[in-house]
Amino acid sequence: MTRTPLMAGNWKMYKTAAETTAFFEKFNPLVAQADHCDILICPTFVNIPAAAAAAGKNVHIGGQNLYWAKEGAFTGEISGPMLKAAGANWVIIGHSERRQYFGETDETVLKRTGAALEAGLSPVVCVGERLEERESGRTADVLVSQFTGGIAGLSPEQFAKIVIAYEPVWAIGTGKTATPEIAADAHKVIRHAVHDKFGAGAAGKIRILYGGSVKPDNIKKLMEQEDLDGVLVGGASLDPASFAAIVNF
Ligand code: PEP
Repeated sequence: MTRTPLMAGNWKMYKTAAETTAFFEKFNPLVAQADHCDILICPTFVNIPAAAAAAGKNVHIGGQNLYWAKEGAFTGEISGPMLKAAGANWVIIGHSERRQYFGETDETVLKRTGAALEAGLSPVVCVGERLEERESGRTADVLVSQFTGGIAGLSPEQFAKIVIAYEPVWAIGTGKTATPEIAADAHKVIRHAVHDKFGAGAAGKIRILYGGSVKPDNIKKLMEQEDLDGVLVGGASLDPASFAAIVNF
């Protein structure tokens, strides 16, 4: 089964509109020939239009979160149709920073994912264990439980449209990358869970990304892992040369 890698950048709360445009002026030519993979950049909500206007044809734009209602009295939130209208086709859901600081749960991850799909957005749904969970030998249990609560409630048709990102919390923004073997083990656990719930076809097709301190100097080894279908990159996606080096691994 060949799966097209997805190389995704999460810009978190960084960059103004002008900085967004300046990024793409440098980045577009560096990845213009990159037809071996899909490329995605997720800026802050307000910079989605600037990113959509400046990005090269082969670069997709996504949001970093969404709310499940289409509109309403939900101050500070943004809906799927609004993201779509602003120029996004993708959205990150359940990032560990959302879980840690903004009360995201598996239940809300499932609601957001359904809303994203209904709006025609492709969701990148994040799962991953915290350091204490890894150290107490509970990584597989945590991943299966996040899968069961946040993803398994999708219909097979919905599931076919998502991407899963494995992001061990202890590796995000810390400079500690999971070894390729640790990442591969976790990806196997997730793919088995997919197999059990959605069957062999879905398990063969689902793209599972790795995220956590991915850099130009560790991308090659990570991408050699059989079960690893791309990356979700935070810090190193902010610099055009560094993210292009990751894309062109
Ligand atoms: C992320 O924000 O999803 C991430 C993986 O961050 P970093 O690459 O900086 O660890």
